[in-house]
Amino acid sequence: MTAAPIQSREVRLKSRPEGIPSVDDFAVASVTLDPPGRGQVQVRNRWMSVDPYMRGRMTTQKSYLPPFQIDAPLEGAAIGEVVASNFAGLQPGDLVQSMLGWREAFNAPGLVVQKLPGEDLPPEAYLGVAGLPGLTAYAGLVKVAGIKAGEVVFVSAAAGAVGSAACQIAKIYGATVIGSAGREDKCAFLREIGVDHVINYREQHDLTAALAEVAPNGIDVYFDNVGGAHLEAALANAKTFARFPLCGMISRYTAADARGPANILLANQKSLRLEGFMVSSYFHLMPEFVRIMAGWVGSGQVKSRQTVDEGIDQAPVALVKLFTGDNVGKMLVKLS
Ligand code: NDP
Repeated sequence: MTAAPIQSREVRLKSRPEGIPSVDDFAVASVTLDPPGRGQVQVRNRWMSVDPYMRGRMTTQKSYLPPFQIDAPLEGAAIGEVVASNFAGLQPGDLVQSMLGWREAFNAPGLVVQKLPGEDLPPEAYLGVAGLPGLTAYAGLVKVAGIKAGEVVFVSAAAGAVGSAACQIAKIYGATVIGSAGREDKCAFLREIGVDHVINYREQHDLTAALAEVAPNGIDVYFDNVGGAHLEAALANAKTFARFPLCGMISRYTAADARGPANILLANQKSLRLEGFMVSSYFHLMPEFVRIMAGWVGSGQVKSRQTVDEGIDQAPVALVKLFTGDNVGKMLVKLS
């Protein structure tokens, strides 16, 4: 029997957002997919990742990834199921990861998708704690900062995907962990996963003073997910020779005035090491990291949390949530 074409919906960029993206910046369109060609697989996405870095690709600015094009589908990490295969090595029913999210289904050369590792983890964990967010946290703390037992580590956006992994990895390495988040339920989650001191930054008029209160002798490591006032507070409270793995600066992605920290001179005066990093420089660690993380999850040392929206229509709403702080843990969209 010859396979028939199928329909797939995808999210396209309709207009380039100004400030925080709005659902009106996106459109959901339907396309027809022929059966997969030679060497191709047809994949139905089951889970897709929603990530802050995508905001950068919605501008025309030159960056480490090319801008999304108007009226073209977005891209991002996804987990899907092979439904038809003309590629040796992949069979219908195999679960694969790809960068072809933001669509319900796709045809692609078998070489551009990867079979999921066989660890005892739910598939969606490979988009979160055992995926790029987890690896980002691990690389930033272990490889960039060189975290050591007994140190004081401050993590911003601590209840998010990268932040919550960073807090728990820092605890495993024997650090005292301070996490900041913008909502009380997020703070409760941070206490639940063992964060020693929790700051609800939205309730502080002076973040520098709030950090000083819980770290009277200063911080050794600041894992920066946010930039802005958080970075200034961390600079003010840093010990001499503290290390700052600069992971991301989400408060700057949508800010009209994105000037740097006013107290940056302290980096000089305290001999600080501020080191930006991209997870892509650490992709070679992924197989080792996945094994380590699967062990931590299995032993209960790392807990993962997700915010899940359902259906491709909800994907733009899910993206907006990252910038309004309406996600706890990894922001995912579940597709059926
Ligand atoms: P999160 O799950 O942390 O979601 C984003 C969170 O950021 C929100 O929930 C919100 O939490 C917080 N936030 C949003 N706007 C602001 C603001 N203006 N000020 C302070 N906090 C804000 O996302 P990820 O874990 O996926 O990403 C976290 C960071 O890591 C981002 O900066 C991202 O770009 C970066 N990243 C970097 C990578 C790299 O290779 N270097 C790889 C992956 C991610 P709250 O309610 O607490 O404010």
